[in-house]
Amino acid sequence: MIPYARQNIDAGDIDAVLQVLQSDWLTQGPMVERFEQALAQRCGAVHAVAVSNATAGLHLACLAAGLGVGDWLWTSPISFVASANCARYCGANVDFVDIDPHTWTLDATALARKLEEAASLGRLPKVVVAVAFAGQSADMRSLKGLARQYGFTLIEDAAHAVGARYAGVAVGNGEFADMTVFSFHPVKIITAAEGGMVLTNDAQLAARLQLLRSHGVTRDPGQMSEASHGPWYYQQLELGFNYRLSDLHAALGLSQLSRLDEFLARRRQLVARYQRSLADLPVDVQAPQAEAQSAWHLFVVRLRSARAQRAHKQIFEAMRAAGVGVNLHYIPIHLQPYYRELGFKPGDFPEAEAYYASALSLPLYPDLSEAEQDHVLDSLRQALQTLGGDADE
Ligand SMILES: *Cc1c(COP(=O)(O)O)cnc(C)c1O
Repeated sequence: MIPYARQNIDAGDIDAVLQVLQSDWLTQGPMVERFEQALAQRCGAVHAVAVSNATAGLHLACLAAGLGVGDWLWTSPISFVASANCARYCGANVDFVDIDPHTWTLDATALARKLEEAASLGRLPKVVVAVAFAGQSADMRSLKGLARQYGFTLIEDAAHAVGARYAGVAVGNGEFADMTVFSFHPVKIITAAEGGMVLTNDAQLAARLQLLRSHGVTRDPGQMSEASHGPWYYQQLELGFNYRLSDLHAALGLSQLSRLDEFLARRRQLVARYQRSLADLPVDVQAPQAEAQSAWHLFVVRLRSARAQRAHKQIFEAMRAAGVGVNLHYIPIHLQPYYRELGFKPGDFPEAEAYYASALSLPLYPDLSEAEQDHVLDSLRQALQTLGGDADE
């Protein structure tokens, strides 16, 4: 089976991890800070805080933004559940803003409309999480304008988007989002096995992220409520977590970061090939977002005709039977049982639901060969011909 995603680990990556294993520090050593500095520098951000995974990073970003009981966080329904769950960890409420039908990212026009309504009801969100879907940022320029106007914190969930750019600067640069969260899960652009990073240019937010990442404990006398008792002394200032990244993970992440441009170039090559080959098939691909340059974590196609959409599941199954590990990113979050329990229902976000009824993620990763990619394309063409009907309806 050709998987939909797969990490690429080379001898340098392995050596980087082995060196940590043979060193004095498996965790809380020098590698975490080196990884943080390297990614901050690559993105042009002032602060980077490494965490155990992006889910933890989203949780801490929400806490740093002051999100708490009674507050609201809004995000896109087409994302991994973590983009919404981060609010629930803080005791806050979640609502969604539908996606743009072409770019599949949070629709800035729908957001503006919903904010106007919420302002009149006195129910504005404290945080908006904009997902860089498939590696492509949302309309961050408009979102930043709305953040200024309505006073919410803008968090970019850039789990898909290490190496992406927007408006001529790296995603994570802090020009648009207050905080940007990256993931280093093996299916993503670079991997640390597990890992995440929160980038920000705000020193206060960075200090909160650092404190909460490690139990809410400080050794900084300047932050303590009374004089230090001695060299052993630390104080717990609030309830934090153990969301640290280990040096083993950081070493792998740092080594992978040195290969980021190689990964991005190969992904772009494969995407260009997909786009050329799909031009004569009845499927839609993700429309470019103005000013965005995607990192291409995912390559999604949408079945165009009503007939093909009715055969969505059969097309998916036929491709799997042909050895192609297609996937579906994502099931609309508001339709998950947990969120239905909170009051969401089918019909709430029609563009997200229409997307779900038509989307397929095709395999995309640096080691995908052109022969394998041709097999993916053949299996899609075949499935569309036999199950999808031959014409648009
Ligand atoms: C993968 C992913 C996450 C979670 O990342 P982890 O590092 O696995 O916690 C969050 N948001 C999105 C959009 C993701 O794809």
